[in-house]
Amino acid sequence: MKVVVIGAGVVGVTTAYYLAKSGHEVTVVDRESEVATLASAGNAGLIAAGHSFAWASPSAPGELLRSLTVEDTALRVNPFKAPGMAIWGAKFLRECNAERAEKNTLVKLRLAQYSQRMLDQIAADERIDYDDIHEGLLYLYRDPKRFEAGIKKMKLVQDHGQKQDVLDPDGVVEAEPYFAPVKHKIAGAIYGVTDSSGDSVKFCRQVQAACERMGSKFVLGNGVTRLSARGGKVQSVTLDDGGSLTADLFVLSAGVHSPKIARSVGVRLPIAPAKGYSATFPIKGNGGMKLRIGCVDEELLVAWCRIGDRLRVTSSAEFTGYETTYNEHDLRLIRKLTQDLLPDAAEYDQGVYRACNRPMTPDGPPILGQAGPDNLYINSGHGHMGFTMACGSSRIVADLIDGKKPEIPVEGLTLTSRP
Ligand SMILES: Cc1cc2nc3c(=O)[nH]c(=O)nc-3n(C[C@H](O)[C@H](O)[C@H](O)COP(=O)(O)OP(=O)(O)OC[C@H]3O[C@@H](n4cnc5c(N)ncnc54)[C@H](O)[C@@H]3O)c2cc1C
Repeated sequence: MKVVVIGAGVVGVTTAYYLAKSGHEVTVVDRESEVATLASAGNAGLIAAGHSFAWASPSAPGELLRSLTVEDTALRVNPFKAPGMAIWGAKFLRECNAERAEKNTLVKLRLAQYSQRMLDQIAADERIDYDDIHEGLLYLYRDPKRFEAGIKKMKLVQDHGQKQDVLDPDGVVEAEPYFAPVKHKIAGAIYGVTDSSGDSVKFCRQVQAACERMGSKFVLGNGVTRLSARGGKVQSVTLDDGGSLTADLFVLSAGVHSPKIARSVGVRLPIAPAKGYSATFPIKGNGGMKLRIGCVDEELLVAWCRIGDRLRVTSSAEFTGYETTYNEHDLRLIRKLTQDLLPDAAEYDQGVYRACNRPMTPDGPPILGQAGPDNLYINSGHGHMGFTMACGSSRIVADLIDGKKPEIPVEGLTLTSRP
């Protein structure tokens, strides 16, 4: 079958990979001139099934409300900059109870665990080196009370197959000797033993190369303005340059821009942009001692990992519309974290910065499968965990297209199986 995949982020390229592998003639189209340039370029690089918790939780409304008046919250909303958020916001609030939060977390966890296996398989089959580190991840706490609460919270994912250890400050230093000088600032950590990290851009570029070896084409630097449907089927996509692409089937993986494209054929996708900030610094030599393990500071919600000889640090989730601007003030959580816990890890005067938008669904899991016209499939809305969940999602979408039963249940992932 001829398939057009719209979007060449980590979700689009892995979709193309599985479709090409099963014999389809694939064309990937992206407005940017290279693959993985938006969210897939700025992420923290964590493959963090252990961090599958849905953002829509009983505490989220309070945190968002607080963000209107105080500056220190990691989750923020600006109603003046994101006026179109009313329907999405109402759906998000409906998910903010304990029962829905648990259900959504478990849907994400199942997908993330499956996806990590698929990622490892692609990397092994295609011999992809993406500066991956398979030493687990640390979820760090500074305050003993929050640490206690974190231990209780993490039990949910542990009860569903996620191997995690509880570490006191000595255990943290044993796992990551780099923290020895700041041990007194750490209350403890949950160590996600099977979590990992790596460079999403490097991964995407090598998956692109694998697709090209299988005959797939990448049309880059030319965006899709709309889909055209007739007789219940998408016939073609119209491109920025006025040209068009026809195919038997279309997969929409355009991240935060998927809803606009879907609307051209009457499909409504509840995906909203949540802006985050990303900084990359050259690692300092420090006598040969290098950071080994990726981490999340559970209080500042700042995440980081070593990517080769660079340190990637990301922060914040702001519902402020589609813009991707940033200023020095926006980087304050990254600055605070690096000063507090990693003061000597990197050349902080040589930072490269960006802001990018996570494609968030109100409930948390991405949207997978057919929607609207018979030959339109969606693979979008991976939120804060797209690197972690992409390979599994793409394998599921390819299986659905081929009429095969996906290897894990799709309940809670398709548009029709969620409330
Ligand atoms: C600060 C930050 C930190 C993160 N940290 C992590 C992490 O540690 N681990 C993790 O698993 N996830 C993380 N994420 C989330 C992850 O990066 C995203 O979920 C993931 O990259 C989404 O991939 P995507 O392919 O759907 O979207 P994108 O990477 O945004 O790709 C979408 C593509 O579609 C293209 N496109 C858009 N509109 C059009 C159009 N009209 N025509 C053609 N092409 C179009 C774009 O150019 C783009 O290339 C983080 C995200 C952010 C912002």
